[in-house]
Amino acid sequence: MSDNINKNNIDSNGVDLKNNVNTDNKSIDEKRIAIDSIRKEYTDRNLVGNSLPGDEIKISVRNLNLFYGEKHALKDVNIDMPGNRVIALIGPSGCGKSTFLRTLNRMNDLIEGVTIKGEIRINAEDIYKTTDVIDLRTRVGMVFQKANLFPMSIYDNIVYGPRIQGQRDKKKLDEIVEKSLRGAAIWDEVKDNLKGAALGLSGGQQQRVCIARTIAMDPDIILMDEPTSALDPISTLKVEELIESLKGAYTIVIVTHNMQQAARISDYTAFFLNGEIVEFDETKNIFENPKDKRTEDYINGRFG
Ligand code: ADP
Ligand code: MG
Repeated sequence: MSDNINKNNIDSNGVDLKNNVNTDNKSIDEKRIAIDSIRKEYTDRNLVGNSLPGDEIKISVRNLNLFYGEKHALKDVNIDMPGNRVIALIGPSGCGKSTFLRTLNRMNDLIEGVTIKGEIRINAEDIYKTTDVIDLRTRVGMVFQKANLFPMSIYDNIVYGPRIQGQRDKKKLDEIVEKSLRGAAIWDEVKDNLKGAALGLSGGQQQRVCIARTIAMDPDIILMDEPTSALDPISTLKVEELIESLKGAYTIVIVTHNMQQAARISDYTAFFLNGEIVEFDETKNIFENPKDKRTEDYINGRFG
């Protein structure tokens, strides 16, 4: 968990040291300037965040408050999440982890009686000012606790989104299917059965096909809400390996109630309690050297 950055030969600016190529189009200087200007703006506005110096900020949240009617479910959440990393959200049941995750692709907008205040920026763009929510949800994909494949073939599940987006070219669709299933480490298991019923697969396979379906939309960020909690240990391990393998290419924010899982797969961990972020840090610091007594108590199993 601790040395993922070095392990992947990717430094904090998103540069692949091994291949000496920048992992996205912008030059490091450009990125650095953009990040510095966001930081300065926040400092000027006196908005203090849980920022980690030196990292490229992908998702930036300021003074986020969410109410379900009267219920204050997220309280002044501030956090800067780095790109191309795995960020785990941990905390006891009911503390707002899923609620927070859903704010990142505006899924809470669908719930009646919700009030959301504050600011969330993805790649510096304020997503609550973005009117095209469909486009946002393409860029910020989501995988749920229970696999939710459609009652159709594996192939049709994967191309569902691309087809809606207007892709009709059979060759292109075939390519998307292969690429996505390979990306989700399930190609070898299903390649001879692409026309078979998706719901005929095992639970663990279905969850990896769900991840493939998300990848097929070519997202920037993948949100996962307890994606392995309904899986057996072997399937869980496969999904964990998959998450590790994806993080060079995607920013993954994952809710997990399994602290060993957070320790195994994440680079950064945010500890939520009663709708607040108590602590956000590199995962190794959260688990080995937490700054807040409540974090320490939680990870030592004293509550929750
Ligand atoms: P977690 O994922 O950490 O278990 P949630 O984000 O699901 O927590 O819930 C946080 C709080 O908000 C809980 O008290 C929960 O009961 C409440 N809550 C969640 N969803 C809704 C909803 N749709 N309507 C009203 N209250 C909700
Ligand atoms: Mg939840």
